[in-house]
Amino acid sequence: MDLLVVGSGFFGLTIAERVANELDLKVVVIDRRDHIGGNAYSEAEPETGIEVHRYGAHLFHTSNPSVWEYVNRFTTFTNYVHKVYTNHGGEIFPLPFNLHTINQFFRSAHGPASARELIAEQASELTPGEAANLEEKAISLIGRPLYEAFVRDYTAKQWQTDPTELPAEVISRLPVRYTYDNRYFNDTWEGLPTDGYTAWIERMADHPNIEVRLSTDFFDESQPLNKAALVGRVPIIYTGPIDRYFDFAEGELGWRTLDFEQEVLPTGDYQGTTVMNYADSEVPYTRIHEFRHFHPERDDYPTDKTVIMREFSRFAERGDEPYYPVNTPEDRARLLAYRELGKAEEGVFFGGRLGTYQYLDMHMAIGSALSMYENKLKPALGTDA
Ligand code: UDP
Repeated sequence: MDLLVVGSGFFGLTIAERVANELDLKVVVIDRRDHIGGNAYSEAEPETGIEVHRYGAHLFHTSNPSVWEYVNRFTTFTNYVHKVYTNHGGEIFPLPFNLHTINQFFRSAHGPASARELIAEQASELTPGEAANLEEKAISLIGRPLYEAFVRDYTAKQWQTDPTELPAEVISRLPVRYTYDNRYFNDTWEGLPTDGYTAWIERMADHPNIEVRLSTDFFDESQPLNKAALVGRVPIIYTGPIDRYFDFAEGELGWRTLDFEQEVLPTGDYQGTTVMNYADSEVPYTRIHEFRHFHPERDDYPTDKTVIMREFSRFAERGDEPYYPVNTPEDRARLLAYRELGKAEEGVFFGGRLGTYQYLDMHMAIGSALSMYENKLKPALGTDA
């Protein structure tokens, strides 16, 4: 083995594929789970055959030409365009915030200019340029009434943290548009892998130089591919939680986890769309996914059954799956301490969402793996190849 990759998500598999394919070196990929692909993994629900994203909906989008070119080596993409609606007060509004949302909410017929004036007026309580936290950022973008209707309670359900204590960047993910365009993402390319995420992921790992070992825990010393046995002996790409790697020496990093309740319903269509958010605090879940709508082009889905998944959000306890970094100031300080420890760890490269404690979308994980490969691994491993 020339390289050990810990974790078979997009970051780990991109590195594995590049090193195996371009440098012609032997790579072993291990994963604690019994399947590859990390949280992008999907599988056919057995009763209906409908592709379900086991760890929550994954929508592929990117504006990075190198990433787009790279992913197209392994899969084609459908022309799916992500759109999200939200239920507030028993009424359905389109997201992200656009002229339709504004006009429906205020029962008005504003054009772009007068809608901008209205929102500016409703954000006038803020000092311009000052948006120190999520609440202020949201109010500056959409005004107080829309903030209270669509953001305040949803965000509280998602983060269980006062919006004044959350970073402004969280809401910056959500565009605000003074047009009727309600595409959720702004990116140049968007779509879903034509024959599913797992087929895509398996093709990345399908190389004679790559060996994947599942149900193999890097910290389990009863199996040979463990940390104590291999650090310093073989280069390692580690994509698990960075605090776990150092045995939580600097304290635990905060994560939010998700709980999913999946149900097969005896109807061909439950909600008419892929994702419905629930903005109000009375409803305990944040959103409902209906998976058939991710692939309207598939004609082998049953017409009398559908699969839905309710999503609940909470702070992760140790042992829960980490999904989103909470990123409080204490977390940032711990992360910096872990980064210092990481630098001193010869021959170990930390990457991916868990390894860097960053909210990376799939295209970002792949993009950062491609950069790490070009800038660090290729110079380090390529010479003696
Ligand atoms: N958000 C909100 N209301 C919504 C959707 C999103 O307030 O109906 C805010 C919320 O603070 C959330 C952020 O926007 O954390 C990003 O939302 P997104 O849907 O992009 O999160 P993801 O799908 O990545 O969980």
